[in-house]
Amino acid sequence: MARYTGSVCRLCRREGMKLYLKGYRCETAKCAIEKRGYAPGQHGQGRKKFSEYGIQLREKQKVKRIYGLLEKPFRAYFAKAERKKGVAGENLLQTLELRMDNVIYRMGLAPSRNAARQLVRHNHFTVNGKRVNIPSYILSKGDEIAPAEKKIEKFPMKTALQNMKDKNQPHWLVFDVETKKGIVQDLPTREDITIPIQEQLIVELYSR
Ligand code: SF4
Repeated sequence: MARYTGSVCRLCRREGMKLYLKGYRCETAKCAIEKRGYAPGQHGQGRKKFSEYGIQLREKQKVKRIYGLLEKPFRAYFAKAERKKGVAGENLLQTLELRMDNVIYRMGLAPSRNAARQLVRHNHFTVNGKRVNIPSYILSKGDEIAPAEKKIEKFPMKTALQNMKDKNQPHWLVFDVETKKGIVQDLPTREDITIPIQEQLIVELYSR
C-alpha cells in the first residue's frame, strides 16, 4: 500500500502544530516545531495568508496527516461518513478513531500511530481471538484486543507493555496490563476526540 516516506516533522511544520508523529521525540526539545516552528521550504518564514479554500485544505491535510492517510483512502472514509446517519464530519472522526492502528496508539501500546501500524502489520495483536494485521481494520464496540500469544515475550511487545503503565487511556478504551487484554467499551463521541480539528471545514471542502 502506498504511504508517505518523507520527513514527518516537515508535515508538522507545514501545519504549524505538533501532530505527534514521531512518538517520544515529540515531547522533547528535539521536536522540529520547538526548534523551527515555521513552514518548511524557501518561503516558509514568509507572510501567511490563506484563502477560504486554503484554510479548508489545510484542515483536511492536517487530519490526513494525523491519522497517517493518503488522499484516496481519506476520501473513501469521507464518502462512507457522508452515507452514514448523523453528522458527516463527526462520523468521519469516529471511524478514524476506530481504526486498529489508532486504537493501539490510544491504548498506549505504541508511542505513535506509525509505530502502532507496524506492530499491527507484524501480527502482534488479535481481535476477539483472531489475528488481525490490517492497520485500517475498523473496530466495533465490545471488540477485545490482546497481544498475540507468541509475541508477548518478544522485544517490541514487552517494551510496549512496560511503557504503557503510565499512559492515559480515553474512557472508551481499556487495556489491562495484568490480564493483557483490552476492550473497546464504547464508541468515541466528538467530545472524546481532543485533537484540535474543525471537521466542518473538511465537509465544506469536499462539498465544493
Ligand atoms: Fe511533529 Fe513529533 Fe517531529 Fe515534533 S518531533 S515536529 S511533534 S513529528
